Amino acid sequence: MTPLTFYMVAAGMFGLCIGSFLNVVIYRLPLGQSLASPPSRCRNCGYSLHWFDNIPVFSWVFLRGRCRMCGVGVSWQYPVVELITAILFVLIVWVTPPGALLASRLLLVCILIALFGIDLEHQILPNIITLPGIVIGLALSVFAPPGIKDALIGAVLGGAILYAIAGVYYLVRREEGMGMGDVKMLAMIGAFLGWKAVIVTLVLASFAGAIVGLSMIAVQRGGMKYALPFGTFLALGALAAMFADKPLIAWYAGFF
Ligand SMILES: [Zn+2]
Repeated sequence: MTPLTFYMVAAGMFGLCIGSFLNVVIYRLPLGQSLASPPSRCRNCGYSLHWFDNIPVFSWVFLRGRCRMCGVGVSWQYPVVELITAILFVLIVWVTPPGALLASRLLLVCILIALFGIDLEHQILPNIITLPGIVIGLALSVFAPPGIKDALIGAVLGGAILYAIAGVYYLVRREEGMGMGDVKMLAMIGAFLGWKAVIVTLVLASFAGAIVGLSMIAVQRGGMKYALPFGTFLALGALAAMFADKPLIAWYAGFF
């Protein structure tokens, strides 16, 4: 095994474990439960998972997506989140040299996966993730691209655009169309990735949201109102913006 292969495999294994933790965050954080204890249990029978029931992806496949004790189905969300985290970790480690930028990218991916899942399931974007995310994103940008100036402009721009859209929507429709969670989330994305990525993220998220929203209306033919979790689309847009990021490509070219 070449050192590079070993490095990638290690990144993938690390990603699987972090993905396993993100599953816990997505399930427990919105319920206000502790992330550390108790150990993972079956939601149906309360069976406390042993370490060999809890190996990312492998255990789920080995047990064919069922609880060892009661046989109730275990959501496919678990292995999927673990696999996606692992794949993204490998991709990022592949294109990013070790250092502050790598730490920043890996952390942002974890936050985006958690917010993606939580917003999809619970339609909330917890402050306990987005607000520290803004601070940490800015702090890391002091040492890594996009640089603190771009990051500050990004945080302010990201927050201001969505705040303005939310304000206009409220004036026109007299109801809240966009939560403050989305405002804080885009500010956080700006803090990590800079102001250009804020624009790319917003365009991609709106585009994806519009396509999914219109297809849902076309399929269901019901009322016109669907509460699409915009944070879910912001997470997808930010991931795309991150991988299309110029500094990253430049670093990549210089690294290999
Ligand atoms: Zn069970």
